[in-house]
Order: sequence, then C-alpha cells, then structure tokens
Amino acid sequence: MKTKLRRDDTVKIVSGKDRGKTGKVLRIDTNSGRVIVQGLNMVRKAVKARRQNDKGGIIDVEAALDISNVMIVCKKCGPTRIGFVVDDNDKKRICRKCGEAL
Ligand SMILES: [Zn+2]
Repeated sequence: MKTKLRRDDTVKIVSGKDRGKTGKVLRIDTNSGRVIVQGLNMVRKAVKARRQNDKGGIIDVEAALDISNVMIVCKKCGPTRIGFVVDDNDKKRICRKCGEAL
C-alpha cells in the first residue's frame, strides 16, 4: 500500500477511541497499511520479566492504526490532505487546502 505519510509527520486521528487527538508518526508499515502514532491508540500489554530484577507486568504500548484513520495536520490550517508539486524535478508535499509545504 502506498502512503504519502512519513515518519515524524503530525497526524490527527479521525476514527476510533482517540478520535480528534494528534500525535507524531513513529512508524509506518506500508505492507499492512498501518501506522503507529506516538502516545495514541494505547493498549495494555502484559510483559514477562526478562531479567532477574525485572518484574515484568502490564505496560501501555501504541497499537497500530489504519492509515485511513489518520490525517496529516497542516501547521497553518489543520487536518488536510497531501498534495504534490514538482519543483526543480523534486517532488514536494503540500497542503491541498492552503498550499503550505508539509
Ligand atoms: Zn494548510
């Protein structure tokens, strides 16, 4: 699956329990079409102790979100879609609403 998103993009979640929240993209899995957004869509996970003085227990980790459930956030106008312009043979991402570089 192709995506215009990149790591470190700021995205807004548009669906699910964290709808309306924004965060930074940590990881993109283009094969499954999913993204991990920092601090969002957290799930509890039980971990086993790996070392002797490590207790293990329950930790909160980010669960992957479907790419279609997030939107990139433009610094100027908020959640938007990504457009492209070709500038000196360089493809640049822009906000489709206001034209600001993303
Ligand atoms: Zn914009």
